[in-house]
Amino acid sequence: MAKYRGPVCRLCRREGVKLFLKGSRCMTDKCAIERRSYPPGQHGQGRQRISEYSAQLREKQKLRRIYGLQERQFRGFFGKAERRAGITGEHLLKLLECRLDNVVYRLGFASSRKQARQLVNHGHLLVNGRKTDIPAYLVKPSDVVEVRQRSRDLVPILSALEAVDGRGIPGWLELDRAAFKGTVRAFPTKEEIALPVNEQMVVELYSR
Ligand code: SF4
Repeated sequence: MAKYRGPVCRLCRREGVKLFLKGSRCMTDKCAIERRSYPPGQHGQGRQRISEYSAQLREKQKLRRIYGLQERQFRGFFGKAERRAGITGEHLLKLLECRLDNVVYRLGFASSRKQARQLVNHGHLLVNGRKTDIPAYLVKPSDVVEVRQRSRDLVPILSALEAVDGRGIPGWLELDRAAFKGTVRAFPTKEEIALPVNEQMVVELYSR
């Protein structure tokens, strides 16, 4: 699967909001959005005309970039959400939020979703006691996500756990920090996901 390898702060500047793609740096005044809060590129500071299509596209890109997915993967999640009864936009948010890499990030085992994905890929995480190295694995209520015993002294995990208080753990997850273990208490609600994205505009974009 192709990967975006360019500068990630540029993505935040493009969307005009902090997407928290760089871990602890995002909380400091080194954050590019704090320093240059206008879009990147030669015409970044010029006047921009926003059509309905471009507004919808920006919302979609924002959501896709927050979770670090390529268009094809993101489209796949949208397809799944569309097949469920109810509000497609909310289903989309909930599906993305239940990805294992996101849960690892939300529990504070990683300082960014990108780092969480790497930890999962490298087999440092267990779900219900079994090694699970698929970042797109979808967790469900009562699943237990834990750091493998021999990975518990890894510096990135320890320093991410130290910084988690600043971010907070969402109410649908419960962290037992001493045991390096998190439990999924329920599916997340839209309010708990709380992202700066209008998911309805993403649905409208794909319904064109
Ligand atoms: Fe975005 Fe983080 Fe870079 Fe700030 S430091 S622009 S929040 S990736």
